[in-house]
Amino acid sequence: MARIVIAGAGAVGASIAYHLALLGADDVVLAERDTVASGATGKAMGGFRQQFSTEAEVRLARESAKLFRELGSPLFDAVGYMFLATSEDGWARLRARAEMQRGLGVPVDEVDPASVRGLRTEDVVGAVACWEDGVAEPAAVTTELVRRAAGLGVDVQEHTNALDVRHDVLVVACGATSAELVPGLPIRPLCRQLVDVGPLDELPHDLPMTIEDETTFHFRRRGDTLRLAMTEPRPRWTHEEVVDGRLVTDWRARLAHRFPPAADAAVVRAWAGLYDMTPDAHPVIGPAADGVYVACGFSGHGFMQSPAVGDAVAHELLGLEPPVDLAPYRLERFADGAVFPEQVVL
Ligand SMILES: Cc1cc2nc3c(=O)[nH]c(=O)nc-3n(C[C@H](O)[C@H](O)[C@H](O)COP(=O)(O)OP(=O)(O)OC[C@H]3O[C@@H](n4cnc5c(N)ncnc54)[C@H](O)[C@@H]3O)c2cc1C
Repeated sequence: MARIVIAGAGAVGASIAYHLALLGADDVVLAERDTVASGATGKAMGGFRQQFSTEAEVRLARESAKLFRELGSPLFDAVGYMFLATSEDGWARLRARAEMQRGLGVPVDEVDPASVRGLRTEDVVGAVACWEDGVAEPAAVTTELVRRAAGLGVDVQEHTNALDVRHDVLVVACGATSAELVPGLPIRPLCRQLVDVGPLDELPHDLPMTIEDETTFHFRRRGDTLRLAMTEPRPRWTHEEVVDGRLVTDWRARLAHRFPPAADAAVVRAWAGLYDMTPDAHPVIGPAADGVYVACGFSGHGFMQSPAVGDAVAHELLGLEPPVDLAPYRLERFADGAVFPEQVVL
């Protein structure tokens, strides 16, 4: 069997390694330049949702849900994802999306947001939620998959540049730095940040990931803190991982409005990481050159897609039919001027 070397032990590389091992591949190296989950994976919000606006994304999420369910608490908690609409237009959009999602088997319901203790809802026109969605610990999930992969025979090498490891096939899963290994890949780093505030007494344990659909401001519970995020008004196209204090101030004000019990919550930690953006915000998955396969450019939702992607890529690398269709994600699409149809980008 060919020797497969995976570059990068983030969520994506770890999942590919694990699924290759499950399928019986017996010569796999997972090479990580730094340590497991030290890239974007270790900096992520940890959200997992099936509520996307395009069928391809919903199908990937549907497949990924199986592994998250199997992992269970404390690695994954199905507290739900609740989208709030604060305008009639937004509410019509949410309902139309929910109908498409239900058609693909995702259990999305119209819900009463006032049932969430502490949430301000006077300005909310309507809300939908999927209670199978939820929040995970990305670094812990990735570490668990690496542990399982190693147990099944994958040779895990931290502090190792994958380019220095002999390979027949190189799988590039290097997130924002993937173009260093495959020059010309259309991937640009976008700096994004998160903020944890707290500690807060009596946060509901089942507080769902709560998202204002119009503004994209969203938050989740993590222990006795809340983790906040939002799409930034001006994209920061840079490799620099820098926290913008003005955004922190703005988000705390938004939280005080939406969840008044947290109005005085102090900042515990704020940090920045990199999204690996492609021109259409979909990943690039597939062969890129002779003996080189890429799985990168996940554009801010790679953690939640990593279970299904890892499984599909492992199948393809071994010449098997992938359980999900990877055709929408090929590199060649950019030559035809691919545009991005997914609307729910957080
Ligand atoms: C602030 C923030 C919030 C996010 N929130 C979410 C969320 O809620 N849900 C979600 O699904 N996604 C989220 N994401 C996106 C998610 O983190 C990424 O899509 C995902 O982690 C990408 O995983 P990856 O394995 O492709 O890349 P990474 O985690 O970046 O891993 C790439 C690895 O490759 C290694 N590497 C690089 N070069 C080499 C080499 N030559 N040899 C060996 N190793 C190498 C790096 O050291 C790194 O560890 C968020 C991202 C950020 C920054």
